[in-house]
Amino acid sequence: MIKVTIYNEYLHERASERVAKVYPHGIHEALKENLTDEDISVKTVTLDNVEDITDELLADTDVFMWWGHKAHEKVPDEIAVRVQQACLAGMGMIFLHSGHHSKPFKLLMGTPCNLSWREDGDREYLWVCDPSHPIVQGIGNYIKLEHEETYGEPFMIPEPDKLIFIGNYEGGEAFRSGCCYRRGYGKIFYFQPGHETFPTFYHPDVIRVLKNAIRWAVSDYRG
Ligand code: ZN
Repeated sequence: MIKVTIYNEYLHERASERVAKVYPHGIHEALKENLTDEDISVKTVTLDNVEDITDELLADTDVFMWWGHKAHEKVPDEIAVRVQQACLAGMGMIFLHSGHHSKPFKLLMGTPCNLSWREDGDREYLWVCDPSHPIVQGIGNYIKLEHEETYGEPFMIPEPDKLIFIGNYEGGEAFRSGCCYRRGYGKIFYFQPGHETFPTFYHPDVIRVLKNAIRWAVSDYRG
């Protein structure tokens, strides 16, 4: 069984009716429901109980998934360092959407991770760069999302070890929407879609990619 822990700050869903309509029980619960499988079990943590991200929890987590947006600064530094250290020791990490500005992602990347953005609900194509990669198995040449937030280059990240998707939007922007890294013994996947006002985490191809990424990121080794 692959043990997954999902952190979602869980603020937008409680502050906005529009978001609550899409994710009535929070993004973390939608992800838990859609990602649980015969080989994947899921626990969730929110900002309310962020202190539950202990060394014990991390030692018992194979892959950690992170969604945050407006409260990155409220995650205590020592917890961000704990997550970074667990990743370096071999825990897989998947950062979703605005997790690009989370403390653990910036610690692992070592760069500001800034990007350009526009919230117009553009159609997005996520174009597959390497159809042989385990993360894209079971999807076609691309994923089409009717509406997503536009993230555009330049994206201030280190060069990915492997670029999995390039996102393209109606406005012409392009973005490195799926990036793989290795840091220490840990595998990391950054995946751009997942703005809170759109039903992205119900899209079957998005769920397929996330399940593939979980299975790819898990490691038998923990240093
Ligand atoms: Zn967003």
